[in-house]
Amino acid sequence: MDKRLGLNKYEIDSESHIEVDKELCEKCEAKPCLFVCPAEVYKLEDGKLVYSYEDCLECGTCIIACKGMGRGAVNWRNPRGGFGIVYRYG
Ligand code: SF4
Repeated sequence: MDKRLGLNKYEIDSESHIEVDKELCEKCEAKPCLFVCPAEVYKLEDGKLVYSYEDCLECGTCIIACKGMGRGAVNWRNPRGGFGIVYRYG
């Protein structure tokens, strides 16, 4: 998986396309984002959720999981035009 992900190219925006409502997130016990994201964008550091939007694969899984199994704290949108992941196959 890491080898395949390494083929991709990222045009990183200075503006994050992921926002997390900290208040809602703190009330969430399930935190499905930690388990569903294939790129491991979300992590816990000292019990607090942190995320690296730069690594996002733009699959949209986290927002669906957060709405369905969490508290709806994740606000995800597509990156601005020209930014985000460029998939390469090989
Ligand atoms: Fe991870 Fe997909 Fe959400 Fe990006 S859109 S943070 S890759 S689950």
